[in-house]
Amino acid sequence: MEFPFFTDEHKMIQQAARDFAQNEIAPIAAEYDETGDFPSETIKKMGEMGFMGIEVPEKYGGAEMDTLAYVLALEEISKADASHGTIMSVNNSLFNYGLLHFGTEEQKQKFLVPVASGEKIGAYSLTEPMSGSDAGTMRSRAVREGDHYVLNGRKSWVTSGPVADFVVVFMMTQPEKKHKGVTAFLIETDKPGFVRGKKEPKMGIRASATSELVFENYRCPVENRLGEEGEGFKIAMTVLDAGRIGIAAQALGIAEAAYEAALTYVQEREAFGRKIGQFQGTGFKIADMKTRIEAARLLTYHAALAKER
Ligand SMILES: Cc1cc2nc3c(=O)[nH]c(=O)nc-3n(C[C@H](O)[C@H](O)[C@H](O)COP(=O)(O)OP(=O)(O)OC[C@H]3O[C@@H](n4cnc5c(N)ncnc54)[C@H](O)[C@@H]3O)c2cc1C
Repeated sequence: MEFPFFTDEHKMIQQAARDFAQNEIAPIAAEYDETGDFPSETIKKMGEMGFMGIEVPEKYGGAEMDTLAYVLALEEISKADASHGTIMSVNNSLFNYGLLHFGTEEQKQKFLVPVASGEKIGAYSLTEPMSGSDAGTMRSRAVREGDHYVLNGRKSWVTSGPVADFVVVFMMTQPEKKHKGVTAFLIETDKPGFVRGKKEPKMGIRASATSELVFENYRCPVENRLGEEGEGFKIAMTVLDAGRIGIAAQALGIAEAAYEAALTYVQEREAFGRKIGQFQGTGFKIADMKTRIEAARLLTYHAALAKER
């Protein structure tokens, strides 16, 4: 369906993402989901197409488009494969967005440019084994020693954790202040003290690798602190809020794929002398799916447009 608020740019990125997703991702999606391997080749191509930094200005390696463009591309990618959608979403929403809004010029050059251009993979690490929704109770600690912070702790459920080149991690610098004592740091994963932990054996979205990350006296230079000391929780929540529109786009794409598969099936499968889609009860279910998808689409596109205002 075409909407009056789509610009030529929106139509172009939607079509480019659809073609790429259906021609290059859909044929390999099941195999990668089965093996749990990271789909490096297609992710690299997505970077070359500008999909790993859609809202990032061109001067920082991105495509410099708006949130609706991001939503349209992410919806198409997720429709072909939820794993590719998740990897794309974390790079764009959870890594790039924080850097763009809270990073210094030097940090943007060093960390944002390679991730937005798709050369490197970014990750976001807030959750811990004993701290999920209630993120202010995290146990990881960062202690300042001169011009470095020494980071220790165990993080969990980090999307792209097994492959990320850079991670924005949140740790306590002043535990007595609870969530106001959290600080954000930019981590280079090839430095000593950074260890990739247990990979999670998930039930689905398996080609999007998720793991624990362990910090053992990791020395983070002060210039790699993102924002001020104590600003980490605000950064974490701001980034998550912006990311929710991307999550909606992922869900929309996945729901559309499920709907189309169901529609094809009920038009083929026969029982009691007719296609099962001709039974009224089945028809109601298909109609409900389509109605809810179109309502979700309008809400998601509206949120994307509202974010720009
Ligand atoms: C596939 C996947 C990828 C992920 N990727 C990342 C990532 O990249 N980076 C990262 O930092 N984290 C990531 N996470 C972790 C995710 O953010 C956490 O799972 C989430 O914050 C919830 O935490 P939890 O699982 O510990 O659940 P809990 O916080 O322990 O919640 C358990 C249950 O209690 C309910 N609950 C909690 N608090 C309340 C309340 N106040 N009122 C009512 N009900 C409540 C919850 O809704 C839930 O049903 C990922 C998780 C998954 C599954």
